[in-house]
Amino acid sequence: MESTNFSTWLDNMKLSHPLVIAGPCSAETEEQVMEVAHELKNTDATIFRAGIWKPRTRPGTFEGKGAKALPWLQRVKKETGLLTAVEIANAQHAKIALEFDVDILWLGARTTVNPFAVQEIAEAIQGTDKIVLVKNPINPDLELWIGAIERLYKMNVKNLGAIHRGFSSFRKSKYRNIPSWQIPIDLKNRFPTLPIINDPSHICGNRKGIFDVSQTALDLKFNGLMIETHCNPDEAWSDAKQQIKPDRLVEIMEVLKVRKDRFVQEESISKLNAFRKEINAKDDQLLETLSERMQIVENIGKAKKENNVAVLQNTRWQEILAKMVDKGEEQGLSKIFIEKIFKAIHQESIAHQEKIING
Ligand code: PEP
Ligand code: MN
Repeated sequence: MESTNFSTWLDNMKLSHPLVIAGPCSAETEEQVMEVAHELKNTDATIFRAGIWKPRTRPGTFEGKGAKALPWLQRVKKETGLLTAVEIANAQHAKIALEFDVDILWLGARTTVNPFAVQEIAEAIQGTDKIVLVKNPINPDLELWIGAIERLYKMNVKNLGAIHRGFSSFRKSKYRNIPSWQIPIDLKNRFPTLPIINDPSHICGNRKGIFDVSQTALDLKFNGLMIETHCNPDEAWSDAKQQIKPDRLVEIMEVLKVRKDRFVQEESISKLNAFRKEINAKDDQLLETLSERMQIVENIGKAKKENNVAVLQNTRWQEILAKMVDKGEEQGLSKIFIEKIFKAIHQESIAHQEKIING
C-alpha cells in the first residue's frame, strides 16, 4: 500500500498534539450530543465521534438512534466546527452516512471480523474521499485486520487509517480488551505510512486506565487517540463505565507526553550508540548460546532414537520451566516472559528432535 491520503491529511493538519477523536459511545438525544460537542469545541479534539448504529452483545439493550441522529451530527459540525465520525456496519449504513456527509466513517471490531460485511461496505463507498478507519477485529488476527484494510483500498478508498481497540479474550485481565501491542506494531511495520489511532476506552473498559494506555500508545508513536467522552458518563446508555467527562479529557491531554522520533543531542546519540553496541554483542551471544544448546538437544535426539524413547519428556520439561521461572524472577525477569521464551525454545527443540527421530 502506498502512502495513504489520510497520512498526508494528518501532516497537513499540523497539530501540535496527537489527533483526538472524542465524543460519546452513542448518540442518545440531540441535547446530549450538542452538550458534549460544545464542551469538546475548545479542547484538543478535532473529530467528534458518536455511534448511531450500535452493535450490542445482547439484544434488548439500546441499539442506537439510527439515521435519525445524523442531522444532530450535522448540527455539531455547523455549530462547533468539529468533524464528525460514525461507525458503519453494513452497506446501508455506509450509504446513509455518505448522504449526510459524515466526514469520517469507521468499521467496528465486530465488522472487521466479517469479510462479507467489509466487502459490502467497500463496494458501497467505492472511490470515496472520506476518511475511513478500520478497527482491529475482536480476535487477535493481524491478517484479518489487514484484509479489511485491503478490501477498502482495492475499492479505491485511499483515505485509510486503523484503530487499535484491543482484543477480546476469555482469560481474565484488567483490560476489557487486551491491547497486545505487538499486533499494531506489526501492522505499522507492514504499512509504515498507515496512521494508527489508539482507542484506550474500549481497551480499558473503565475510566481509570485511560491515561496509562494513551501514554503507552504515544510512547509507541501512535498517531492519535479515540476517547469516549460524555457529559454524564454514569448515565450513558452504552459503555457507561469507560466514558470520561470532557474536562477529564483536557486534563489527560495536558499531562500526556508526546515523544520525539529520535535522539537529537550529540551527547545522547553517542551514549545511545554505545548501548546499542553492547546490545548487539549480547544478541550475538544469545544466538550462539541458543545454537550450542540446540546441538546438545540434537545429541539427545539421537540417543532417544537409538533407544526408541519419546521426544516429549514432560516431567523433565516441567522441572526446567519451573526452575527457570524461579531463577528468572530472582533476576528481574517476569514469569510471563520466561514462560514465553522457554516454551519457544522447547517447541524448537521438539521440532529438531522430531526431524532426527523421523528422518
Ligand atoms: C464503539 O466505538 O463504540 C464500538 C462499538 O467499538 P468496538 O467496535 O471497538 O467494540
Ligand atoms: Mn463504545
